[in-house]
Amino acid sequence: MANIYRARWLIPADGPVVDDGAVVAEGGRIVRVGPWSRVRPHAGPGDAVETFADGVLLPGFVNAHTHLSLSDLKGKFRPTKNFPSWLARLAARRIIRGQAKIRRAIEAGARESREAGTAAGADLTPDGPFDDLLGRDGARWTVYGELFGFGETGMNRLAGAVAAMEALAASGAPVRVGLSPHTPYTVGAEVFAAARCEADARGWPLSTHLHETLDEIAFTERGEGRLHAWLHGLGFLPRGWRPAGVRPIRMLAEAGFFRGPVLAAHGNYLTDEDIAILAASGSSVAYCPRSHAFFRHEDHPWRRLLAAGVNVCLGTDSLASSPSLSVLDEVRFLFARESGTDPRLLLDMATRRGARALGIENEVGDLLPGLTATLCVVGPVGATREPLAAVLSGEGTVQPAGGPG
Ligand SMILES: [Zn+2]
Repeated sequence: MANIYRARWLIPADGPVVDDGAVVAEGGRIVRVGPWSRVRPHAGPGDAVETFADGVLLPGFVNAHTHLSLSDLKGKFRPTKNFPSWLARLAARRIIRGQAKIRRAIEAGARESREAGTAAGADLTPDGPFDDLLGRDGARWTVYGELFGFGETGMNRLAGAVAAMEALAASGAPVRVGLSPHTPYTVGAEVFAAARCEADARGWPLSTHLHETLDEIAFTERGEGRLHAWLHGLGFLPRGWRPAGVRPIRMLAEAGFFRGPVLAAHGNYLTDEDIAILAASGSSVAYCPRSHAFFRHEDHPWRRLLAAGVNVCLGTDSLASSPSLSVLDEVRFLFARESGTDPRLLLDMATRRGARALGIENEVGDLLPGLTATLCVVGPVGATREPLAAVLSGEGTVQPAGGPG
């Protein structure tokens, strides 16, 4: 028996809009896509047909950067230009949370994500084992074990993250695993180098936060700035710590971290030389538009990245700096802010490019036979203008469609 999803419009990530189209799924996989007139002859009497008469059927979205374990922090922080102060307050809140609370936060975040039409995502977390909660709804999560620390402390934390991710992978949970050294100001270059080796030995993907703030750049270049002052004051930096004397991405490249692709979150402040490192390594940048606005950063260089051939995708970041876990909300925000942007490019960044960043473009990100049928529908949408532009302008609400089968 097949599940058939018929909608007023079908919009693949790559390809023309199909009027009155349908997607046929069997066992959670797409087996046929096309106009209803061509799908209907193949439908059997036992097939279930769900019709969205004024809806737009889209591939499920890919959230390329989030922290589901912070999903209980919605609305707890005000927008600020002071990123280090926000991070210090976030760190304090994390310490006092019990494990039951973290577990509930991950569950709530995963639920909110799927309800927002998310088909896959990158979840960065130091709260490892609880992520066996993910994936049972058909969403394809990659859990990146997040780690902090310099020198021996950092190496021990890395070993802990590797063990946690190996246990998660062995648990049979329907997730992929990877590693994420947190940032160039909370993790030593030697730990980044070791994380690259550990990941390569296991075929795991890597992610990190990169060039999110000017304070981060001042930290590695000169051992200055608010992040340095905060971490130095905490005693977090090892005795005898010296700045690398170069920009963060250069420090990581010299450590070998960019000898393969990296999913770099933010990339808010990038020179042409920085972008060349990302391009040469086949890396992706997860731009988080509303988190970017929360911290009132300068304009994001996403168009320069695309022009240089870097894969740019979209993330929501966590609810500690973003109002929702909806990728569609991110796209709508960007569409409203950057007038004249091609809606098709934004859809591509929200779907196919995100799948490419996670290395799962053969699994999700488009409406094609063989991909998982984790879809979403937006409606009601009127017929007075181009349907994708209508959706990005705010028409309709999103709901998931399809699933594990
Ligand atoms: Zn983040």
